[in-house]
Amino acid sequence: MADFILEYGHKPGWKSIFNLLGITVPPRLKRLKGSWKKQILAGKKVVTSTGGINSFVIRNIYDELGGHALINSLPAEDRADVLLFDATGIESVAQLKLLYGFFHANAGKLANNSRVVIISLNPTGSAEHVSAQQAIEGFSRSVAKEVGRKGATVNLVRLENKNATEQQLLPVLNFLFSEASAFVTAQVFRINSTGNVPQIIPLENSLTGKIALVTGAARGIGEATARKLAAEGATVIVLDRPEDSEAGKKVADSINGKFLAADMSKEESATIINDYLKKEFNGVDIVIHNAGITRDKTIAKMDEKYWDMVLNVNLQALIRTNNLLLKSGTIRNNGRIVCLSSISGFSGNFGQTNYSATKAGIIGYVKALAEEQAANNITSNAVAPGFIETKMTAKMPLFTKMGGRRLSNLNQGGLAEDVADMITFLSSPGAAGINGQTLRVCGGSYIGA
Ligand code: NAD
Repeated sequence: MADFILEYGHKPGWKSIFNLLGITVPPRLKRLKGSWKKQILAGKKVVTSTGGINSFVIRNIYDELGGHALINSLPAEDRADVLLFDATGIESVAQLKLLYGFFHANAGKLANNSRVVIISLNPTGSAEHVSAQQAIEGFSRSVAKEVGRKGATVNLVRLENKNATEQQLLPVLNFLFSEASAFVTAQVFRINSTGNVPQIIPLENSLTGKIALVTGAARGIGEATARKLAAEGATVIVLDRPEDSEAGKKVADSINGKFLAADMSKEESATIINDYLKKEFNGVDIVIHNAGITRDKTIAKMDEKYWDMVLNVNLQALIRTNNLLLKSGTIRNNGRIVCLSSISGFSGNFGQTNYSATKAGIIGYVKALAEEQAANNITSNAVAPGFIETKMTAKMPLFTKMGGRRLSNLNQGGLAEDVADMITFLSSPGAAGINGQTLRVCGGSYIGA
């Protein structure tokens, strides 16, 4: 069932009824249609902080994305499309006042669907330095809560060290400024300077010629991901269970891709996938482990077979498959692995001990795999969706569903396309600086740890 308040809240007459009832109408999010655009800052009002150690880099990035003039302060009646704050120079509690000054002056002037990005630096200095940089994280998550009702997002980009360059920073900022990150807020994007990025790689057209495998792609998030990857130029192999062949083939045909029938719960699937990729494409560049299931019951009442089933499909199958693909050299250098975690992997969830264990397992897995594969420049990351409107969540009881939607800063559930946009970004060559991380697509619904 669709979100009634979102659907009707923007129709004439209805908004005032909801207001009278004290119900907040969620903002309509502006999402990316079609493929990534060039020059996304053209015509946008971008307000930046003054100073900061990376002002030169920011100037270049800004020019690259089609911006015209950087503004340091806006007239009272103007609205900002982007706020960009360089917090890399903050080393003390006293310097945190810079955040106060900038956001006190500008947060109230944000346009609908605007973007806020704060750049910070992994501190190496004194305990106060560490504390001041960590403070920025709490600050940004709170601003995200305050401006979410405008459909505005707030994200933190953390440079792991001072050597992080424009090459690593630009694609991340491009993604965060764009409509592709409409449901991504209150996140920390950590940039490692180890990613092999010899030059600036713009997002647009960067997946042309790439071969991508998406598991569980006959519907939901997997289908949306297959479509997004194909829209950016990748040749996509849509994998799903044999019983979902009809739906899977339809998706594959509509994007000029291929369908591969394989049940991930079966051990032989790893070999089927590996042989297929070797024979048909001589390898693969992008592997998206999306297939996943739930079998909810409290631990006291859970059948052993449901424990086994969920652990197998959601975690064991992807490890088994990656082991073979990596051992056989099927995943090429500069490859991208993205696995689907969940916010319940961070926070746990009632009746989901099996599911949450697998989704937390993925968070640890991508971190360890990233280190293992660093020499091959193969990145491993996970995406943790929050409440997303798919067949999986449609099964939830009505009030749980309504609660799930309202937990987010943006006061609504996300769409499969929102998750697909993040996965597609992490699959791109420009995302080389992001490795071993789990990023949420949850609209900032921060529950649990
Ligand atoms: P979905 O149930 O709509 O789709 C899952 C797909 O995986 C289906 O096409 C299904 O046929 C396929 N699949 C299941 N078992 C398989 C197997 N053994 N072999 C091959 N394919 C198999 O689910 P979704 O909501 O699109 O979720 C996709 C992923 O995102 C899952 O890993 C899920 O855990 C994760 N996720 C979803 C949400 C959400 O709110 N929808 C939230 C957090 C995480």
